[in-house]
Amino acid sequence: MINVAVCNPLLRTPLSLIVDDSCPVINLTYYWIHQRHAWKTQHQPGVPPDRWEGNASQLKKIPPTIPADFAAEWAEWCWENGVKGKFSLIPYPAGIGRVDEGFPAEVGGKSLTLEYQAWMRVYRELIWPSFDLTPEMLTHTAVVDLDTFTLTEEWEQVEWVDPPVDDRLTDYIITAMEMLNNVGIPCEGVTSPGAFGKRQEAAYAKAVLTASQHVNNDPRPFYFLWLKHDELPDVPIWYAEKENGIAIASIVACAGDWFGGWTGYDLGDADRFITADLQGGRLPPILEKELPCVLVGHWPGFYFNGEKLGFDVLKTVKSRLNNYDPDGTKTLWMKTSEIGHYWMARELTNISVSERDASCPPEKGDRGVVQKITLSTQFPTANFTLVIDAPVRHVQVNGWDLREVYSRRDFQSNTFLVEGKQTFIAFDLEVGDTILELVT
Ligand SMILES: [Zn+2]
Repeated sequence: MINVAVCNPLLRTPLSLIVDDSCPVINLTYYWIHQRHAWKTQHQPGVPPDRWEGNASQLKKIPPTIPADFAAEWAEWCWENGVKGKFSLIPYPAGIGRVDEGFPAEVGGKSLTLEYQAWMRVYRELIWPSFDLTPEMLTHTAVVDLDTFTLTEEWEQVEWVDPPVDDRLTDYIITAMEMLNNVGIPCEGVTSPGAFGKRQEAAYAKAVLTASQHVNNDPRPFYFLWLKHDELPDVPIWYAEKENGIAIASIVACAGDWFGGWTGYDLGDADRFITADLQGGRLPPILEKELPCVLVGHWPGFYFNGEKLGFDVLKTVKSRLNNYDPDGTKTLWMKTSEIGHYWMARELTNISVSERDASCPPEKGDRGVVQKITLSTQFPTANFTLVIDAPVRHVQVNGWDLREVYSRRDFQSNTFLVEGKQTFIAFDLEVGDTILELVT
């Protein structure tokens, strides 16, 4: 009997770019530092802000808004260069304006409405095709009192690192998701502002899953909480219900924040991701092990107060990753939701192998042994890729012939590739039973 195992999609290591702190119009850093320092003055008078709370002397350089033109330039570059991932859409950024109320706010006496409309066009038409859009809770600054929709003295990423684990947490996430829904953007998951939820991860994961099912009827969302530099990345799956197709993925990033920092004044360095000789930096050893490489950046850092220096770092990192994989056979840019769905399918699909029934004899000319592989799943995914420990001459998926290809460069969904004593088979996995018939 042959052995079957699941590989990376199309034998390529997933790459993904996570962008945090993005929202229409607002430069989150500007308000975050202002509000944090005001909070500090009020609640801890005489105690200077910590480094993580931002540098007040930089504030005069930081503009309160980031233009839609820059978002369009950035998103078009990502589209042209095949960069995919996740991009936040904070629904009530710093409590300044609600995205689902047309952003009535004024900044410096100027109406933001036209800029807001331009931003939403960029979100829908240029960013969404390549990036999952998620809320990053409600304000990314103060916790909102949902009864009055006013800001409280608690912070989403300070006090709510250890959030209440009752309905308040679920209601909070439901509210964030509904605000995106109100502008026609059902989200694929959520992003934690800072370490929101970290001390109650089990309850947080459950709350995101419940909210996603409730708001979007989506039983397979993800959340982004962890950036880990000290261990190899994984894609933990929580609350899997195999028969019901329900689960939530934790997307764990392995590299960042080395573009322009969350502040937009702490410039990073492409070398920390991958050096020009492609040997050094955080990414090469992870790519070598073929584990998902999720990079993290912050929107104000790409903009870098109009100098766009963090964007330049991204361009350098991307060109080095192109050099690492010149023919596109080693890596695959994916949205974070696609990574979540792939790992769910990988872990939660039943696979069984049998020789074909004697009642269905091999067709004329097929003299080899016919093997049947049955996959049963409630977790669909694109580019599902199997390896068989035998050279195969002929492959059918649910009665359809797959095309044989002869190089990894040509290996795509609905093809198979024989390399020595192994065969790789790729197809889009659908809900239910999938029958593969192989002639060896
Ligand atoms: Zn953030």
